[in-house]
Amino acid sequence: DLAMYRAKASIGENICYYEKGMDEVARDRRQIANDLRRALERDELAVLYQPQRSLRTGELTGYEALLRWRHPVRGAVSPADFIPIAEETGEIFAIGEWVLRQACHEAARWPEQCKVAVNISAVQLTQPNLPELVAQILLESGLSPRRLELEITETAIISDKLRALHVLRAIKGMGVSIAIDDFGTGYSSLDTLHSFPFDKIKIDKSFLLQAHERPQARAIIRAVLALGRSLNVPVLAEGVESDVQLTLLEDEGCDEVQGYLFGRPASAPSGRDDGEERAKAQARAQGL
Ligand code: C2E
Ligand code: MG
Ligand code: MG
Ligand code: MG
Repeated sequence: DLAMYRAKASIGENICYYEKGMDEVARDRRQIANDLRRALERDELAVLYQPQRSLRTGELTGYEALLRWRHPVRGAVSPADFIPIAEETGEIFAIGEWVLRQACHEAARWPEQCKVAVNISAVQLTQPNLPELVAQILLESGLSPRRLELEITETAIISDKLRALHVLRAIKGMGVSIAIDDFGTGYSSLDTLHSFPFDKIKIDKSFLLQAHERPQARAIIRAVLALGRSLNVPVLAEGVESDVQLTLLEDEGCDEVQGYLFGRPASAPSGRDDGEERAKAQARAQGL
């Protein structure tokens, strides 16, 4: 059926999928859903961490936890491809809980007392016991609630607004912070900001990517930064890959940055803070 066909089309971002028959498309998708169900048991999932820095001080402020799936046959499958399937099958509940637990337990052992930011899917926000789950994981890991941030997209809030706001308020009440992710790409952004006191705005990387060819993109970055200032909410720009982009963000007065220029998502060894200069030098050496 059409829903499945569309779901499949988003799996590979591969135009060839459109040439596959409906049956094949559905079968492929079912197989991924099945494999995903066993991925946890088979230890195929891992969490990587990408640094976030203050632009003013260069200081490390936190790490975003990013999920990875090493499929035994398909190889590395992107979360952008398998998270939507996990959301449809309900597997996201088990996977989301696993990521949260993994991230909190690891962060509790880091030498730096910085934050760990965990992505929470729209579907997880419909889970009424999410606040209890967060509280339970904080307790068992020993991580301070001040060191946990949840990243939520605007779309997550819009789908069932009252319920989502209720769940988010309970979580925020524990001292956990909430960041709004991919800001500018969802719907009714301003209304979302108005209804809930977020702790951070993350500008979607698509704007930074286009900031040099399209004056509109730069204007949007500037407007979001102004919005953050008037609401007294720090703004983080994601997808910073080059010195040119960094300079632009400095000129516009952005608060925080995250991107390949400062470090790719990586597993968590001890003493992971290489320092800004070294991260930059590495990025340059990689030809970024
Ligand atoms: P996101 O939360 O917006 O995460 C940022 C994405 O940008 C990550 O992609 C990251 O690897 C990538 N990125 C970081 N720096 C740069 C850069 O300089 N340039 C470019 N081009 N990309 C950069 P990733 O890891 O593939 O994740 C994609 C999306 O999948 C995430 O977007 C998030 O929406 C979702 N996701 C990842 N992990 C989880 C998870 O544990 N739970 C849930 N629900 N969603 C997750
Ligand atoms: Mg995120
Ligand atoms: Mg994002
Ligand atoms: Mg994204």
